[in-house]
This record gives sequence, C-alpha cells and structure tokens, in this order.
Amino acid sequence: MKRIAVYPGSFDPVTNGHLDIIKRATHLFDEVHVIVSLNIKKEGLFTFEERLHLLKEVTKDLGHVKVDIHDGLVIDYALKNKACAIIRGLRAVSDYEDEFKIFTFNRDISTEIDTVILLSSLPNLYLSSSAIKELTKFGGDISRYVPEVVNQAVNNKRK
Ligand code: ADP
Repeated sequence: MKRIAVYPGSFDPVTNGHLDIIKRATHLFDEVHVIVSLNIKKEGLFTFEERLHLLKEVTKDLGHVKVDIHDGLVIDYALKNKACAIIRGLRAVSDYEDEFKIFTFNRDISTEIDTVILLSSLPNLYLSSSAIKELTKFGGDISRYVPEVVNQAVNNKRK
C-alpha cells in the first residue's frame, strides 16, 4: 500500500525551511500532500490561491508531491486521503509545545494517523514565514531564505 503523508501549514509564503522538510519527507513516504490549511488564521501576505501557486512552482520538479488547499481539520483530510502520517517541522524548542498540543488532539481523534516530526536543518533553524513577512514589510532582502520564484512574487507585491 502507498504510504501517504500530509504536510500542512499556512505557507505564507513557502520558505527554504518548508522546502527542505518537503524534500526530506519525499524520501520517507511514497506520496506527500502539501496542504495550505485555511483554518490557520494569520495575517496574510499572499492569498490562498497565490500560496498554492507558489507551492506548485517550487515542488514541480519533485516527484510524488501533491499540493492542495484544505478547509477544516488536517486530520480529516489525512483520513479522507488514506494518509498514515502528518508531517511537522520543528525549529527551536519554542515550536515543541504547540506541536505536542496539536499531536495530542489529533491522537484523540484518530490513532490511525501518526505525526512525524522532522527537525529543521541548521540554516533554516530560525526561518519562519512571519520573519519573511517582517523583512518584506521593512524592505529587507529575503532572497537567501526563499526559492527564487517566491522572492520575485514578494518583490512584485512590494511594487
Ligand atoms: P510558519 O510557522 O513559518 O508560519 P507554517 O505555519 O506554514 O509556517 O508551518 C508549517 C510547518 O512547517 C510547521 O510544522 C512549522 O513548524 C514548519 N516549519 C516552518 N518553517 C520551518 C523551518 N524553517 N524549518 C523547519 N520546519 C519549519
């Protein structure tokens, strides 16, 4: 049976940190569904459609990656798509508590889906979409932290 994993997030925008997690997840699973989760409410830089488009662009050369938008609980998406795992990325210890909370609730809903935590690679340890938004707001250079297509999209927003 195909082993499917779901990697949810707000991806506003997708960064090198996310991309690293996606690539590593493709080595562990037969198929990775990256989903833009509509229930993660954060101040948006990009619309959900724009985030989806950018995710499609940056993953187009990776095999076995599907990109989608989902409105509702991630665990419901995972169950519906017969996934066996939810992927999360962990940066500093500060992410830990939130991830543990989400894991506990998901575990209560279904024990069929496990959570796989991938630790952030060193260069991406402090990288977040919020930091990118902050840099964008104040005219900082984000080119080191995001794929080129995202850098261009951000620069277009600035115009
Ligand atoms: P952010 O927290 O940057 O706004 P998301 O809500 O889109 O990003 O995060 C989706 C998932 O990706 C979460 O599990 C988050 O911890 C993980 N993630 C985000 N940035 C990184 C990074 N630089 N390295 C590893 N994991 C990350």
